[in-house]
Amino acid sequence: MSNTIHVLPDHIANQIAAGEVIQRPASAVKELLENAVDAEATEIHLILNDAGKALVQVIDNGKGMSAADARLCFERHATSKINQIDDLFQIRTMGFRGEALASIAAVAQVELKTRPADTEVGTQLEVANSRIETEAPVATPVGTSLAMKNLFFNVPARRNFLKSNAAEMRHILEEFTRVALAFPDIRFQLTANHQQLYQLEPGSLKQRIVQLLGNPYQSKLVAVQEQTDYLNIRGFVGKPETAKKTRGDQYFFVNNRYIKSAYLHHAVMSAYQALIASDQFPSYVLFIDLDPAQVDVNVHPTKQEIKFEDEKIVYAFVQAAIRHALAQFSITPTLDFELDAGIQSLSSIQQPFTEEKKQATAGSRLFSGFTQAHQAHRIERSADKPWAGLPIREVPSPEAQQPSLLPTSIDLEHTVLTQLLQTYIILPLPDGYRLLHQQRAHERIRYEKLLAADAQKPIASQRSMFPVTIELNASEATLLDELLPELQELGYLIEPFGKHTYVVQGTPADLDSGEEQQTIHWLLEQYKYLAIELKLPKKESLLRTLARQQAIRSGQMLTEREMRELVQELLQCKQGNVSPDGHPTYLEFRSGQLNKLFGFQ
Ligand code: ADP
Ligand code: MG
Repeated sequence: MSNTIHVLPDHIANQIAAGEVIQRPASAVKELLENAVDAEATEIHLILNDAGKALVQVIDNGKGMSAADARLCFERHATSKINQIDDLFQIRTMGFRGEALASIAAVAQVELKTRPADTEVGTQLEVANSRIETEAPVATPVGTSLAMKNLFFNVPARRNFLKSNAAEMRHILEEFTRVALAFPDIRFQLTANHQQLYQLEPGSLKQRIVQLLGNPYQSKLVAVQEQTDYLNIRGFVGKPETAKKTRGDQYFFVNNRYIKSAYLHHAVMSAYQALIASDQFPSYVLFIDLDPAQVDVNVHPTKQEIKFEDEKIVYAFVQAAIRHALAQFSITPTLDFELDAGIQSLSSIQQPFTEEKKQATAGSRLFSGFTQAHQAHRIERSADKPWAGLPIREVPSPEAQQPSLLPTSIDLEHTVLTQLLQTYIILPLPDGYRLLHQQRAHERIRYEKLLAADAQKPIASQRSMFPVTIELNASEATLLDELLPELQELGYLIEPFGKHTYVVQGTPADLDSGEEQQTIHWLLEQYKYLAIELKLPKKESLLRTLARQQAIRSGQMLTEREMRELVQELLQCKQGNVSPDGHPTYLEFRSGQLNKLFGFQ
């Protein structure tokens, strides 16, 4: 029998290894930006074409490479960053495995130009299929320019796996943001399809956060800063009011390396406990610095996960530091003192929030049993909660999809409607009553209106007399670009107006306009939640988002006429019994049930 085992040729081995390191254009962006940082650049320019599929180029003014190093850097395990195994435990650079450039050279065409400061002439190399194809001297500034072209040109199967440009661009912006946040001293530029998306001047971390994550953060950040012999933490967390429904802007860096850690995330969340709703996420940009010997960064292919020598200490420290920061922020105007061990746990610190919450719950106490559990069988009987345990008629289930017909004897024109708690509408029936939830009902109404709209029959748009200009951050802008055509069908005329800026020319004619800036931010946020977190289809996400945005709110006083319209429109809905996300829009009570409650047979 002949031998069947053979050693793979280098270019194939490299291609396989590349699979872990370079999965999409964004992975190359990460690696190339980190190389520029490691080369001590003070200016880094990222250039993209076709969301990085055609070109990812990074130009830096760092140390550059000699001709010999330039040839070597594409070899697997070629690195200048470690020499011996002990170095692995003292890593202060972003890279250290010598895999990135080898991987990139295995799956893309590469053009490298580089020159160190002590050499007059630079080196230019062209590489494809892990082979150096041409080498020549070149006049080039000190530093390095590395262009990766036509990613996966030689691995079509992986090329086909790439997502839409908008999706790939989102990943790239995420990587760019992570590196740019970690190094606010470095000037970063980002150009995509010949358009400049970012020009980030060197500055403070706070300035960098605002540049990257958007102006609304300007006055919404609380500084975190604690130092011990073992580790330091610095950075910013968002004030509780900025908490969002999507995970959004959450960044942890350990020794300036972005990491993902559910464990540390939990530490932050627990520090916010009682300050934000349980389904909300706070924003944060936090840097933990500690002796590199205390962390192992070599546990994950893209180094995004790390292992702490003592995880518990880090957890406790993060939690305490953030509690301290939040506590100080809520009392600083009158008192400004050093952290006292007991102070963080004082309930008075959290009072503004709990007090508010208490009032809100008190206001809707009577109905808390209904609204919390939605379903009759989930309401428990309890002595100190006399309102709980009402035997409500089973709410029609979302699957039933029955139209919410009324008995024909009802004459809506002459029925008196009452608003209750500025949230519910009582609709009397011959044998009981219906309790409509105004916000949910209206969401259903708007949803069906939007659903009926399409390219043939778009929702009429009212042109604004004074069009509003809105400014977004880059990732919001990419998302909005994706949605513009659909939004137009749904009555929103929004036009791009230069970099990250849009003009709202018109809004749905049947709605009040105003607050466009906030509306669009909110819209994108909610859309992300539905489309990305809940993975609902694009159209469905958009319809639900808009329906929610356009609906009247609980807490809003309604006129007699508004109530009547709402009830009528709900009755005309195909699925008037449930809100778009499947919650009941009304509950129905019959006299028999009420009699029983009062102890009558
Ligand atoms: P690693 O970063 O893990 O060392 P890479 O494959 O990313 O591995 O890079 C290999 C080597 O090439 C680096 O160790 C460095 O010496 C050199 N190099 C890569 N990019 C640059 C750059 N932009 N400027 C200077 N040297 C670079
Ligand atoms: Mg590297």
